[in-house]
Amino acid sequence: MDQPTEQSDSRSITGASTASVHAGEQRQRAYDSVTTPIVQTATYTFTDTAALIDYFEGRVEREEYGRYGNPTVRAAESKLAALETDGTIETAALLCASGMNTITTILLAMLPAGSHVIITDDSYRRTRQFVCTMLARLGVNHTIVPVCDYDALESAILPETRLIVSESPTNPYLRILDLPRIVDIAKRHRVKTVIDATFATPYNVRPLTFGVDLVMHSATKYMGGHNDLLAGVVIGRPDMIAALRQAHGILGGVCDPHTAYLLVRGLKTLALRMERHNQNGLHVARFLHEHPCIRQVYYPGLPNHPEHAIAAAQMRGWGGVISFEYDGDLEATGQFIDRLRLPYIAPSLGGVESLVEQPALMSFYELTTEERLAVGIRNNLVRFACGIEDTADLIRDLAQALETTEL
Ligand SMILES: *Cc1c(COP(=O)(O)O)cnc(C)c1O
Repeated sequence: MDQPTEQSDSRSITGASTASVHAGEQRQRAYDSVTTPIVQTATYTFTDTAALIDYFEGRVEREEYGRYGNPTVRAAESKLAALETDGTIETAALLCASGMNTITTILLAMLPAGSHVIITDDSYRRTRQFVCTMLARLGVNHTIVPVCDYDALESAILPETRLIVSESPTNPYLRILDLPRIVDIAKRHRVKTVIDATFATPYNVRPLTFGVDLVMHSATKYMGGHNDLLAGVVIGRPDMIAALRQAHGILGGVCDPHTAYLLVRGLKTLALRMERHNQNGLHVARFLHEHPCIRQVYYPGLPNHPEHAIAAAQMRGWGGVISFEYDGDLEATGQFIDRLRLPYIAPSLGGVESLVEQPALMSFYELTTEERLAVGIRNNLVRFACGIEDTADLIRDLAQALETTEL
């Protein structure tokens, strides 16, 4: 079968929704299918030894073995790469089995023994755990700095520092990085930057266009968008992604073709979904901010957020995740969550269904109250990940759950 050829004309892709549908895709697909076919195979055949030699000599572009590539996975990668650029920078993407597999692949590939990495404190807990335990055992040192403290960040840079790893927005407090500032610091010290932009998606911000070296996402969240797949992706300059792809071929955390298909399908509606997630996030945040039973709301779209101005300058929207403190203790907060009827109680975010969790009883369950406080997690903290339900229904549901509260 012929390899698909012509790509969608990038000049005709100007809007975010058009990009979601067409960007990075081959115009003509195998069997003239309008959808990306699922190429469910573990390996690829060579007609004869000459064909094999042609391949290894780089004379033909084709697949060799499933761990090194798959046409469905490549379709997802080329779409993800296209979504992260504004056309001024060349990008490539590497799809991985999960967000965590993406992070571990990047860090294992880029950090030799004796090197040093800086991470920010309000970050995905498993990322921090990987850096503090497994990487440390391999002789990679780290410094954890408070997110958005740029003096602390710059002071933490050592001669052997290779990477600065951060998130924007962060989890669970939705802090926003000043991307030009972090890029400026990193470039002056010849350190590379990796930003986990899972909470933003390229619809809301494209860190590579600010000069960040690598952007990564848990595609499990908004990219897939339907709470039905696990995947991760890293996007950056083609030569950097090629080096990561080599490491990934050894580490082996591949994304299977069916998942890649679901991801391409989910990405078609990324812009549509993000518009609603952003709208729901902002309206729910405003509602909670005004409510007497809520002590504090963390959402970059609110004017009282410490980086509201930076967020407004950098981002198209602020996403669907809101963290807030309920006016009650661990138990009362759980009772409030139990009164909600629309969101499911579950970890994760970014899917069409709203999800709610009390971090103290979810990601941080095994810690004591004191240990949680030490990492900034209060017992009354709630993370609400808006789905794409109607805004009015989400607010009505929150209102009824808060009305029945006995203060
Ligand atoms: C979920 C998440 C991850 C981990 O991704 P998985 O796909 O669950 O492995 C990493 N970073 C952030 C910000 C996340 O929300």
